[in-house]
Amino acid sequence: CFRVRGNCLRLLTNFVAQSSFALEELCIDCKKWDELLFAVQKGYHQDNPYHMRLHAADVVHGAYWFCKVGELWSLSLKGFTNVELFTVIFSAAIHDYDHPGVSNNFLIKTNDPLAILYNDKAVLESHHIAAVFQLMQQSKYNIFKHTPAATYSIVREAIIHMVLATDMSQHFVKLGLLKTKDEEWLKQELSREDRLLIMSMVVHAADVSNPCRPLPLYLQWTDKVIQEFFAQGDREKALGLPISPLMNRGTTNIARSQCGFIDVIIAPLYNAMSEIIPQMRECVAHMRYNKDFWSSMSVLSIREEEMRKGTQKLPPLPDDFAASAVLKVHMKLPRTRTQLRHKEKQRTLRDIH
Ligand SMILES: [Zn+2]
Repeated sequence: CFRVRGNCLRLLTNFVAQSSFALEELCIDCKKWDELLFAVQKGYHQDNPYHMRLHAADVVHGAYWFCKVGELWSLSLKGFTNVELFTVIFSAAIHDYDHPGVSNNFLIKTNDPLAILYNDKAVLESHHIAAVFQLMQQSKYNIFKHTPAATYSIVREAIIHMVLATDMSQHFVKLGLLKTKDEEWLKQELSREDRLLIMSMVVHAADVSNPCRPLPLYLQWTDKVIQEFFAQGDREKALGLPISPLMNRGTTNIARSQCGFIDVIIAPLYNAMSEIIPQMRECVAHMRYNKDFWSSMSVLSIREEEMRKGTQKLPPLPDDFAASAVLKVHMKLPRTRTQLRHKEKQRTLRDIH
C-alpha cells in the first residue's frame, strides 16, 4: 500500500492497463510493470509547473475515457485489439517522460545536446520514447522480455507512432488525414494504418484536452501552462534570444491566446474527433462554454490592461458555474456532420409540406 499523493500516474496507469486485459496477452510480469511505472513516474520533473506527472496522469485519463466511453474497444469493434488499447495507455503515460519544461524550439535555439542528437526533428518526442525504451533495457524494467518478438514489434511501432504524433508540428498533417475520411470509413473494419491514425489522435486530443475540461479544471491547467511558458520566455529574454510566441509575459494576453488556441487547434480537432467518438461532444460542449468565457468582453479588456501593467492573473470562476448546466445548454445543438445533415433534411421536409 502507498499513498495516492505523488503516485497518481503509477496508480492510474496500472489500473487502466489492467482493465485492457493485455498484460497477460503480452506476457508482462506484473511486478516489473509496477517497477517500470514507478521509474517512469519518477522521471517526470516535479519542478516543471506543467509538464509533470500529473499532466501525464491527466493524459492517461483522457485517452482512456475516449477509448472506453467512446466504445472504440467494445466487442473489438472496427478491429481494435486489447494490445492496441494497452499501447494507447502506455504511450499516454510516457509521452512527456523526462520533459525539461522548455519547448523543442528552445532546445534547438540553444543547441541543446538533445537537439544535436535528434537533428532538430521532434527533439522532445524522440527523447521521451528513446529514454523509456533505454530504461526498459535494464532487466528489472524489461516488461517485454517474454513478449513474442512479432507482438513486441507491433507494440513498439504503435508507441513510437503515437508519441511522435504528440509533436504539435504534426497536428495539421494528422488532422488533415482524418478529415479526408468519410462516414463509410468508420462502418467497416479499419486497417492497421487507420487504427494507428485514430489511436494517435486519441493520445494527441487527450494531450491538449485542457480547454475541453470543465472550466474550474481548465483554469487550473491554464495557470500551470502559462507559468511554464512565461518562465521559458524569461529565460529566452535573459539569453538575448527572440521570445517564443505566447511566452512573453509582457505581451501575451492570456484570454486572447486561449481563444486563438481553441479556434485554431482545439475546435477543429475535437469537432473531427466527435464524428468518430460521438461521446466527445461532451468535451465540445465544455470547450464552447470555455471559449465564451474567455471571449466575454469584460474578461478580454481586463486582461489587456493587466497585461500592460505586468500584473496579469487568471480570471475568477463565475459564481453561477455548474458543469451540468454547461452540458444542458451546449449539447442541445447538432454537432456532427450526420446530425447537421439530418436537421437539414427535416427542415427541407417541413418546407415541402
Ligand atoms: Zn503532454
